[in-house]
Amino acid sequence: MSAGSTDQFGRRIEYLRISVTDRCNFRCAYCMPLEGLPWLPREDILSYEEITEVVRQLAPLGVSRLRITGGEPTIRPQLSTLIAMLRAVPGIEDIALSTNGVKLPEMADELKAAGLDRVNMSADSLKPERIREIARRSLKFSPLDAASAAERAGLEPVKINMVVMRGINDDEIEDFARLTIDHPLHVRFIELMPVGEMANLTFEHVVPSDELLARLSKLGALAADAGPARGNGPAAYYRFAGAPGSVGVITPMSHTYCGDCNRVRLTADGRLRTCLYGEEEVSFRDALRAGAPLAPVYAAALASKPKEHALLQMRVGGLRALSQVGG
Ligand code: SAM
Ligand code: SF4
Repeated sequence: MSAGSTDQFGRRIEYLRISVTDRCNFRCAYCMPLEGLPWLPREDILSYEEITEVVRQLAPLGVSRLRITGGEPTIRPQLSTLIAMLRAVPGIEDIALSTNGVKLPEMADELKAAGLDRVNMSADSLKPERIREIARRSLKFSPLDAASAAERAGLEPVKINMVVMRGINDDEIEDFARLTIDHPLHVRFIELMPVGEMANLTFEHVVPSDELLARLSKLGALAADAGPARGNGPAAYYRFAGAPGSVGVITPMSHTYCGDCNRVRLTADGRLRTCLYGEEEVSFRDALRAGAPLAPVYAAALASKPKEHALLQMRVGGLRALSQVGG
């Protein structure tokens, strides 16, 4: 293994997703129980200094791209301070943020100034009433205004992630796809993953990407596309002729993409998880707080990164919700 940067199956690991909080100002029906979850105790959560130290030690081992996620990362105070600290780590080339967008209008400029490169925004509906029903919070919020704020601040390419749920919001997929014809937005349709306690959302609510693409192709010819310039991860992209934006599908349910997996995840309490749904994890927090180097712990973790997830067999590695690991 070359200095910890490839796993046991030869996959290059260059991408770290960092969850900075397990809390959220939404309660998306597919993600978090309405009553919330038992939150992590504050003392267990990595400080910004500790997160930066993890990145400083992993950068020489091949990690060059970061995504800040949660829970909802923008509700952790002074997030831009962390962005600036990470930006200063040698070897870090790209820093992205996953957010529900609620705080983007007020925070986009500050995040950009601190060194954030781009955002992925979750948006499951364009209808205010439906947004409230899915997010189960009555916040005044327009996803399109949030996306425009990100665009104006230069946090591009702006990607919008829609979790498609049959009978709940799948009547809006054409409206989301049309956004890419008029705007330089990259809309990615995510297959619902029935995880944890969201028992009322089942396999019947999953809309397979092939069905979705067949529907979209009725709007106009769709050509396979390279997608936005940066950070394309597991999405497959398409474009309508002449459109400034693209549509993408992320297909954890109908087609796995584990063979190309390039990522590992750090939970808010400092556990390194090598697969979103795996059991495999090690505590970076314990090593850090004991003053031990992370490289040997990291090498051992990569050596046990599983070949693929077992989501379809409903084995989800003890997860109750994706908010616990940052999706
Ligand atoms: N709060 C931020 C957000 O909503 O973008 C970041 C964290 S969220 C857990 C990360 C991603 O996971 C979001 O795009 C969300 O839609 C997705 N997600 C959460 N639960 C999911 C599920 N059951 N199926 C598919 N995607 C899910
Ligand atoms: Fe919060 Fe994001 Fe989960 Fe929605 S998907 S509850 S916004 S963490």
